[in-house]
Amino acid sequence: MNYTGTRSPYAFSASEAIARGIADDGGLFVPESFPPLTAEEIQKLVGMDYRQRAVLVLSKYLTDFTQEELEACVKGAYCGTFDNDEPAPLREVDSKTFLLDLWHGPTCAFKDLALQLLPHLLTRSAKRTMPDKEIVILVATSGDTGKAALEGFADVPGVRIIVFYPENGVSAIQKLQMTTQTGNNVAVCAIKGNFDDAQTGVKNIFSDPEMIGKLAEKGYVFSSANSINFGRLVPQIIYYVSAYCDLLKSGKLKEGEKFNVAVPTGNFGNILAAVYAKRMGIPVNKFICASNKNKILTDFIRTGVYDRNREFHLTTSPSMDILISSNLERMLYHLCDGSCSQVAEWMNSLKRDGKYQVPAEILAKLQNEFWGGYCDDVQAENAIRELFTKHNMLCDTHTAVAVDVVAQYRKETGDDTLCIMASTASAYKFAPAVLPAVCDEKISGDGFEVISKLSEVTGTPIPASLADLNKREVLHKTCVAKEEMAAFILNALK
Ligand SMILES: *Cc1c(COP(=O)(O)O)cnc(C)c1O
Repeated sequence: MNYTGTRSPYAFSASEAIARGIADDGGLFVPESFPPLTAEEIQKLVGMDYRQRAVLVLSKYLTDFTQEELEACVKGAYCGTFDNDEPAPLREVDSKTFLLDLWHGPTCAFKDLALQLLPHLLTRSAKRTMPDKEIVILVATSGDTGKAALEGFADVPGVRIIVFYPENGVSAIQKLQMTTQTGNNVAVCAIKGNFDDAQTGVKNIFSDPEMIGKLAEKGYVFSSANSINFGRLVPQIIYYVSAYCDLLKSGKLKEGEKFNVAVPTGNFGNILAAVYAKRMGIPVNKFICASNKNKILTDFIRTGVYDRNREFHLTTSPSMDILISSNLERMLYHLCDGSCSQVAEWMNSLKRDGKYQVPAEILAKLQNEFWGGYCDDVQAENAIRELFTKHNMLCDTHTAVAVDVVAQYRKETGDDTLCIMASTASAYKFAPAVLPAVCDEKISGDGFEVISKLSEVTGTPIPASLADLNKREVLHKTCVAKEEMAAFILNALK
């Protein structure tokens, strides 16, 4: 299986695509075709556990990895690292509604599913394709990616990791998770700006010939752990395939029976992985794309106009406070049947004018598969409250956005097809916003009293990795202007 770019054609192996992270022209790597899962393979998958399913799905895409290598990667990623036997279990809300719990990993958010695996994929890819280089992972984070990447890459030999986060754009707990990170290959830096500033800064540095040259002199090469790296996307396909297999196994679905997938969406990576699962043969009916008040994707799905010239809102679901959804570029590429020049034109227009519009036939294709909706913080809070009082289940503020949007979808369309909702973070990670939904007593601050109270009120355990966070030393205190990101990197690599 070869990988090409979204903006110009390439023919890279999976290892090359993963080691490089992003194409030289700024485009993203995509597989040349989608490997089908046969009916026999699906039968086999149903009888497997998550780790075995992971190896099979990965083997379809990472064809230059041996079976032994994939088994070693999966073992390293998913054995002993999650606080649950199954890394991605389904939780039944009612017979037509399931939460796909993706937050049992070390940082309590779904990004662990990919970022526990990526270091194993990346170090093997790099060894094959650039044997004498040291890799520098640059990450721009809206909160969860940064910590998950740090946790995955800390003290991995041959890799340096540098994380940028928006100074005021992450929760207090997310910030502490990152600023207390240990490891002799890590650097963490706040920037004065929002997530899009951080992401744009990182993207520009990636494709800046001067920076690339300076690093090359020292034997370093950039790569990415952001969801623009195909090595981030491919692990996410696994849990949608696995969820379908679980539903077949429990008899909730019959083979080939369609279901809906709802995803609280920011950068469009998680929902795109569900699209890839569908292209492999998993019978998805609709993708329900759920946004918070930064509803640029809702507007795009409804109108075909992607316009980032708008007010940016800070919400209680900060990991979705995004106006440039990077992975949408891959979706556009697939929608226009691989027309690189067309994608490049839209992306240029986005860079130049902050917007683009897709033609009616592309919009029709998009709407055929996607439904976009959004809710504000109050609606999300109400969704948490209702889930808790009606079903005695707790969800976080991001998941709540999907819960609310699914309710809107069902009301508006009358479609009550079985629906899986991606549950993307532990409620404890966003406790100050979750607590008021389930408790009338006012507990102020971002403090750990809030976490304790949430546990007391709901009778659910505090994840071990969050419980002692306030006792760890803050090691990373630098905050720079967005123009100073390159200087910070050069300094960190001294
Ligand atoms: C990153 C994140 C999202 C958004 O996922 P995308 O792949 O960027 O669409 C949603 N919820 C949580 C908790 C996240 O960390």
